[in-house]
Amino acid sequence: MSSSNPALENRVLESYVLGGWHKPRSADGRMLTSAVTGEPVAILADHGLDMASVRRYAIDTAGPELRAMTFHERAAILRSLGKYLMERKDELYPVSTATGATRSDSWFDIDGGIGVLLSYSSKARRELPDSTVLIDGEIESLARDGSFLGAHIGTSRTGVAVQINAFNFPCWGMLEKFAPAFLAGVPTIAKPASPTAYLTEALTRLIVESGLLPAGSLQVICGGTGDLLDQLDGQDSVAFTGSASTAALLRAHPTIIDEAVRFTAEADSLNCAILGAGAVPGSATFAGFVAEVVNEMTTKAGQKCTAIRRILVPETHREATIEALQAALADVVVGDPADKATTMGALAGIDQRAEVRDAVERLKTSATVITDHCDFAGVDPERGAFMAPTLLQATDRRADAIHQVEAFGPVSTVIGYDSPAEAVELAALGRGSLVASVFTDDPAEAATLTVALGSHHGRIQVVDESSLESHTGHGAPLPNLVHGGPGRAGGGEELGGMRAVKHHLQISAVQASPAAMTAITGEYQAGAPRNDTKGHPFRLYFDDLEIGDSIVTDSRTVTLDDIERFAELTGDNFYAHMDDEAAKASPIFEGRVAHGYLVVSAAAGLFVDPDPGPVLANYGLDRLRFAKPTYPGDTLTVTLTCKRKTLRAGAGYGEVAWDTQVVNQNGEVAAAYDVLTIVATREQPS
Ligand code: NAP
Repeated sequence: MSSSNPALENRVLESYVLGGWHKPRSADGRMLTSAVTGEPVAILADHGLDMASVRRYAIDTAGPELRAMTFHERAAILRSLGKYLMERKDELYPVSTATGATRSDSWFDIDGGIGVLLSYSSKARRELPDSTVLIDGEIESLARDGSFLGAHIGTSRTGVAVQINAFNFPCWGMLEKFAPAFLAGVPTIAKPASPTAYLTEALTRLIVESGLLPAGSLQVICGGTGDLLDQLDGQDSVAFTGSASTAALLRAHPTIIDEAVRFTAEADSLNCAILGAGAVPGSATFAGFVAEVVNEMTTKAGQKCTAIRRILVPETHREATIEALQAALADVVVGDPADKATTMGALAGIDQRAEVRDAVERLKTSATVITDHCDFAGVDPERGAFMAPTLLQATDRRADAIHQVEAFGPVSTVIGYDSPAEAVELAALGRGSLVASVFTDDPAEAATLTVALGSHHGRIQVVDESSLESHTGHGAPLPNLVHGGPGRAGGGEELGGMRAVKHHLQISAVQASPAAMTAITGEYQAGAPRNDTKGHPFRLYFDDLEIGDSIVTDSRTVTLDDIERFAELTGDNFYAHMDDEAAKASPIFEGRVAHGYLVVSAAAGLFVDPDPGPVLANYGLDRLRFAKPTYPGDTLTVTLTCKRKTLRAGAGYGEVAWDTQVVNQNGEVAAAYDVLTIVATREQPS
């Protein structure tokens, strides 16, 4: 093991708090050792931090600065940070090796974690407004005449997000929680788990060196949290990842209860993979199932909260599955994670291995061992925390131990079932899991199992022959999908896209007039004052356009000839446009009607300003509804109003959404929608 990396020089780990690196008062503390060689790597000592000051620093220093930024400005920082870390990630790999991780394990943790920053950044720019306020859902009219509206808005909470992480993902674990909190404008206090805190410290050093984060937006405590939880109030939150027992302890903390501190947990769970009857031995899907189980047993040496702990197989396929698993496990190379030939590294430490061995003993009360031996390639399995992949077979398929004892290592148990209903029942004995997989080539079986598994699982991955190559992996949480699960899995919903960001916002119901609602949300709401005194708004550059800038167009009467020519041009001869008798016979129309797309096209003809100008392109429509049929002879007028602006920083343009109302001669809305355009800024990139 190279000790050229400062993270591995057996020094006392420091915390990054109060705007600087904080050295513990004494070097006496817990020795952290390499999972591979057992040699000392770092020391965790009592840091004697004043937790009240750490929290205050986040709230007073970072809070106001973060809240003043828009979601897009925060997203841009995450993107820059992600790119910065990607360029320097190689520095983290040797440190990660000391945790027992192979190169691909480290990729999962390091690249995966940095990838979360980038994913959140791009999702935020697509799905969140360039504003400090989120409109959550549709705005509703609370008065017949539209003069009073109701909306849900999300604003940044003013506390801190305390994030307590597990040892198995020292990088990803911190980044997956930090990204949504930061996007929401809430500062983070992160606490890595002790055994691998040296890797999180190394990652934090890179983040600090980047200089990209506003002061106080990320503080990292290496060591215990002291009385931090006692300091929290109802604006703060705690997100915990770790064992179900620690989750239960923290959830019951008096301050968390008394102050109604938002608390979420991603805890351990005994996830299952189910082989459906529709994936018969010998099929590609059966082979894919076996490969996935082995992958989950051996990636991170099975130290993944999402790993497959229970392998549910039809009783008729049990023997064949065991044979196939034994054969595949025989090919696993357990050894030095730095060695390219190694396919499974070490557990995070000797203590962790002792816990896993103890759990295996408890599993053996209701299971027999199928395999628990291997050759260790060039390592001393006693000095390093190495362990053979261990496959068991349940002797009592309903025994508590099988469904309740989490062996947090390369351990999994085969359990036979007799019917899909029994498979679901056995899965539910885990009392709530992060994830289940279903492997079957029968879509009906997939549907039956998935719907029934839903109540007890946060995520369900269904694999058939067509997705064997493309599926994203049983054990891989994705930033755009929920990670968390009910019951024993903790009840959390980390990741999950904007759901995770909203967790750090306060969602408030707001009732107000259209004018007030426009000012509050920063988006034009129908009924608010418009400004049509600046000429055609398509002649205005992005910089000069203001929310509410508007134009009321000339009118156009739609004729039967228009309808027939539009039908001929497009080939859309739907009866409602072409057959008067059939149209009259329908319960909807009084006779032939104009195509909805004709109405939209005619509207464009009314509002478009033809000459080249700041409006560069139209890239779509949102929320299009045809509210009233348009009959031949109806006269249409369009009101187009600047609704929302989103700058694409540095691109030379921004996106502008236009509230579009097409009304007929009676003042009835024939069509309403948002036109989406790209509008140039005055300044163009050179
Ligand atoms: P753990 O022992 O429960 O510890 C988790 C975290 O809690 C660590 O940072 C730990 O710090 C901290 N902690 C423990 N007691 C605390 C207290 N009284 N106050 C504040 N913090 C406290 O779990 P672990 O051994 O690190 O991780 C393994 C477990 O995590 C497994 O059961 C696994 O299934 C689960 N896990 C779940 C997920 C998920 O997303 N659901 C992800 C990864 C792991 P110290 O290390 O300093 O004690």
